[in-house]
Amino acid sequence: MRLRFRPGLNRMDSRLVVVRWGAVYLDRQLSSLPGEIEMARILVPRITPERPVRRGHSRFSLSLIFLLALFSVRGWSQSLVIKDVTVIDATGRAAAPHSTVVIDGDHIIAISRSKKTHLPRNAVIVDGTGKFLIPGLWDMHVHGASDIRAPWSHLLFVANGVVGVRDMSGPPDANAWRARQVSNLDPTPTIYLGSPIVDGPNPAWPDSIVVADEAQGREVVDQQQQRGADFIKVYSGLPRNAYFAIADEAKKRDIPFEGHVPDAVTAAEATGAGQRSIEHLTQVAEGCSKEEKTIAAERQRLEASFRAPDATMPQKIAAGQSIIRLNFHVVDSFDEATAQSLFAQFVKNGTWQTPTLTLLQGQIDDPLNTSDPRLQYLSKEVRAKWDAGYYSHFPPPARAAMVQLARAEFDESKKIVALMYRSGVPILAGTDTMNPHCFPGFGIHDELAFLVDAGLPPIAALQAATRNAAEFMGQRDRRGTIEVGKTADLVLLDKDPLANIHNTRSIQAVVLNGKLFPRGALDAMLTKAQTLASIPNAAASGK
Ligand SMILES: [Zn+2]
Repeated sequence: MRLRFRPGLNRMDSRLVVVRWGAVYLDRQLSSLPGEIEMARILVPRITPERPVRRGHSRFSLSLIFLLALFSVRGWSQSLVIKDVTVIDATGRAAAPHSTVVIDGDHIIAISRSKKTHLPRNAVIVDGTGKFLIPGLWDMHVHGASDIRAPWSHLLFVANGVVGVRDMSGPPDANAWRARQVSNLDPTPTIYLGSPIVDGPNPAWPDSIVVADEAQGREVVDQQQQRGADFIKVYSGLPRNAYFAIADEAKKRDIPFEGHVPDAVTAAEATGAGQRSIEHLTQVAEGCSKEEKTIAAERQRLEASFRAPDATMPQKIAAGQSIIRLNFHVVDSFDEATAQSLFAQFVKNGTWQTPTLTLLQGQIDDPLNTSDPRLQYLSKEVRAKWDAGYYSHFPPPARAAMVQLARAEFDESKKIVALMYRSGVPILAGTDTMNPHCFPGFGIHDELAFLVDAGLPPIAALQAATRNAAEFMGQRDRRGTIEVGKTADLVLLDKDPLANIHNTRSIQAVVLNGKLFPRGALDAMLTKAQTLASIPNAAASGK
């Protein structure tokens, strides 16, 4: 074992990213250094689930622009009728067989179970016999929908029935980004667009907005609201005072803040401060432990000793191992009564949870199934990250410990999700797509299955991706269910999703803003997504 450090390597401390999982994450930059630092790659605080990339403008050839136009959704005014279909409207009402749904332009104008329903002249008629109609799905935690990956990720979303996404790492200027989208003629999911990631000093990701104090916290809320962000995305490294300043300013200005509960803040404090959603259950497991306070103090002590400028390698290793043990202890010290009292606060304060079970399961870091056909739709850059996985640069014992921890935490997370559901905590379906094992578009179906696996009834899982999403965004009057007056965002399925949640994958057609995309058109979208993903990344060459 060689423990030699190169001069200046202490900067790696600043690149360690702290989230909930207690694993070690070292920046790729460090990982690519020569083997003598092998032992540097040890057990330390936790990995990060976010992987935005640098943004830039992708350039399309004229022929691609022509192809884009083929899928154009603009200028649509056709009437559409889906006849004799079983409607699962996601309001909570029972499934309604033999229904006829009438769409005019981009809205649902009638839903009827009568055979005598008046059908508009010249309407496109879709025979829904034996089929099931659900509201279009929302993936409420994605990356890559507003950056250079947008051209292909949008197609993958729509082809998989995802009519809307919440983008958790938005562009610096949402208004400017939206203005550029006007020239995009491809079918595009509706995007609920976050600010860039707002993190503390030594941010986890390069395009983050760094906030070190209260004044900067207030300023970023002001700036991002003016630039049109739908919400402020908060992240793990925010200092306490900056976080609470963001919360206060966001409340004053009436813009939600959503994201990770920072490491320096408890879940109870975050819900008390008005955080609108908590992602990946950050700080929730800690808040379900009777020993939250002592665990937090111990974590602080261990992290300080890991980061101490004069810490020796053996000291760092010891601290890292202790942190992993501490995280196992978080799982072991789960206490149901403590959990219930935290969840009661979530309910009272209207704090939503996006557990992203797809992400948490991915962190178990099973090898990619290379015969998974969905892999062909990823860009080379994304695929390379997935191939590397989370822990490939760590020595085997460390990797084994982290995988074991991820497994324990995933199991605990499912238990927490079930309990939250039974306690009435509002839940959103989100994947954290673009992270390993979190497929753009396809992934929402994995998440629904994980939610059911955790203990949600299939209809509740479905609502987490439809009605709940609309309610969360304050758009219940426009979206999220199949009702008269709502936007016609729909998915037609061959098989009953309430009988088996995996049947949400049996997509026969998607209706986006009233426009019908039959199976053939969806397959064409997939093919086109593959083509776009294979175009060398324009921004990778330095923008
Ligand atoms: Zn994320």
